[in-house]
Amino acid sequence: MVSQYVPRIQLNNGTTIPQMGFGTLNVPPDRNPTPENSAKTEEFVCAALEIGYRHIDTAQMYGNERGVGQGIAASGIPRDQLYVTSKLGNGNHRPDDVRRSFDETLQKLGIDYLDLFLIHWPLPTLYEGDYVSTWATMAELVENGRLRSIGVSNFQPDHLQKIISETGIRPVVNQIEVHPGFNNDLIRNACVRLGVMVEAWSPLGQGKVIGDSVLRDIAAVKDRTTAQVVLRWHVEHGNIVFPKSVNRERMAENLNIFDFTLSPSEIALIDALDEGEAGRIGPNPDTFDWIPPDTTSREEL
Ligand code: NAD
Repeated sequence: MVSQYVPRIQLNNGTTIPQMGFGTLNVPPDRNPTPENSAKTEEFVCAALEIGYRHIDTAQMYGNERGVGQGIAASGIPRDQLYVTSKLGNGNHRPDDVRRSFDETLQKLGIDYLDLFLIHWPLPTLYEGDYVSTWATMAELVENGRLRSIGVSNFQPDHLQKIISETGIRPVVNQIEVHPGFNNDLIRNACVRLGVMVEAWSPLGQGKVIGDSVLRDIAAVKDRTTAQVVLRWHVEHGNIVFPKSVNRERMAENLNIFDFTLSPSEIALIDALDEGEAGRIGPNPDTFDWIPPDTTSREEL
């Protein structure tokens, strides 16, 4: 339908990724992979693809890979025109579980390769602090040809440094929390230094930034919505984004940000909303240690 022009970002392994995608956390809201919920997820993913999204971000822990796969199949869009990311669940860090759960991810998504697979959280206080063997096992999946690229999520600078120095393999991206109010510059600067692209999760601060008066004023001047200004700010910083919405109008609005720019002073005004650690919405990656209850047994693989 709309099919906006979306730039592709070059990654450090020579592949490219669409800078804008569709986020699927809480699609549907309760993360429970029942057939009814998968049908809902299918509908929203299909709508996003029809509107013009070609990059989908999901995760084992979202419990919706089957519905995402159904949406991909129902869209009829050829596989090679799509970019699909999933993430390793927190309970699957041991090498055998990496391999087994990756197979399950492909099976649920109904595809024979994944574009990008991320370690969802580093979990430095679990697994005897060993996320390096997890990372090395992810690299094997690339060698076996069923995965194009590997990356990480929520990795702090020391976590990044450790996997790179101990395996010699750089992640192509680090998916981290970034939105107005939480610039996360410490991690972003480390990523730039290491040649790792930044994917910004919760780019709209889960909707909390929409009412901000500075953002609203800029939006009024630009004759754009606040969400569009925020997403454009990310793009100006080179971030890869995948806002989530289950509302078709908002899906289209969020995609429609590649025909305007922000001035350096507008970008600086948004940068200045940073509240440091107080602006963080999600958990701190240094201490986050949540392992989800097993959802696999509730699904037919
Ligand atoms: P988001 O910042 O994308 O905000 C989503 C919320 O913003 C929606 O529920 C809606 O309420 C609101 N919204 C969306 N479009 C809008 C618009 N145009 N106008 C007004 N309000 C609008 O939050 P998110 O879903 O947490 O993050 C996006 C994606 O990032 C997720 O879906 C997921 O794919 C990924 N993510 C990854 C991690 C991680 O640990 N790697 C964590 C959180 C999210």
